[in-house]
Amino acid sequence: MRIVDARVIVCSPGRNFVTLKITTEDGVYGLGDATLNGRELAVAAYLGEHVVPLLIGRDARRIEDTWQFLYKGAYWRRGPVTMTAIAAVDTALWDILGKVANLPVYRLLGGASREAVMVYGHANGEDLDETVAAVGQYLAMGYKAIRAQSGVPGLASTYGVGKGTLFYEPAEPGLPPESVWSTEKYLEFVPSLFARLRQEYGPDVHLLHDVHHRLTPIEAGRLGRALEPYRLFWMEDPVPAELQEGFRLIRQHTTTPIAVGEVFNSIHDCQQLIQEQLIDYIRSTVVHAGGITHLRKIAHLADLFHVRTGCHGATDLSPVCLAAALRLHAPGRRARARRGHRRSRGRAPSVPARLSSGQPQGRRHGAQLVSTRR
Ligand SMILES: [Mg+2]
Repeated sequence: MRIVDARVIVCSPGRNFVTLKITTEDGVYGLGDATLNGRELAVAAYLGEHVVPLLIGRDARRIEDTWQFLYKGAYWRRGPVTMTAIAAVDTALWDILGKVANLPVYRLLGGASREAVMVYGHANGEDLDETVAAVGQYLAMGYKAIRAQSGVPGLASTYGVGKGTLFYEPAEPGLPPESVWSTEKYLEFVPSLFARLRQEYGPDVHLLHDVHHRLTPIEAGRLGRALEPYRLFWMEDPVPAELQEGFRLIRQHTTTPIAVGEVFNSIHDCQQLIQEQLIDYIRSTVVHAGGITHLRKIAHLADLFHVRTGCHGATDLSPVCLAAALRLHAPGRRARARRGHRRSRGRAPSVPARLSSGQPQGRRHGAQLVSTRR
């Protein structure tokens, strides 16, 4: 089953979703997401110039071999551009294999191990009251897990706080905006937000918060300890994660669960975090961490050390990536991704499935995967 064509497709209203379409001599094709948000065209060029010529003539069924060939055969290994390109090839090849085998990809990976995958919604507000109201809207829609982000008093704007109601849109058109940051104001404010949320909505809802890599380890330890009474599901991206041993300091000071990894590209970025049990959730994605083949290795390592998966799935990753993530999380034929995503009906399709909610691309409710097992 030789590969005869591989095309890089860059399209989507208002953004650049990058998709790789690989076609075999039998006419079977597979899709893989190659969207590196903010650096999309770098991956498109890498694929077109350096990867596509290598694919023509290769056996589409040799997924692991092709992964190793693209990873080890290049002088420059790892990095977001390289690993996103490899991920696109890998996802497309799994898609082809699923079609040829006439089986959904999750079956090829070992079969369903859960009946549904929990997702969380992004509740945003300009201030505390707005954020509390936004959380209430998600609760009313049936979400069990909600991430709460709020503007900080005294700061003109706060990174990572979405604009508009119920939509989380992290991608900014044009050059990225600059904003002023104050750790002091942020640390003072955030515990009061979650105190209010628990007061309003009680103990049952899973509450999450993203720090967006803004703190130092000791500051993150302080925040995690201050948030302990409000029992967060997780505190995400507390510090820049290049220094894995820095998480030891956070762990020494708080029992608030920690999630990290959406910017990781390989197992080497999180090996220490996982093996020392310095985190509770690994959030790497199919598209940025080398595809289904490599993310599965990360998940298996995490499984050994009581670290769970919670794949990043913001709206600036394409629906092809989300479909692949759902297959990796092995949701099964009765998969439910809660509101914001269409439910699978009947036999779950091979990757990719269309999972947008019928709203324009990039306007689906911000909702990300939370795996409670693995
Ligand atoms: Mg994050």
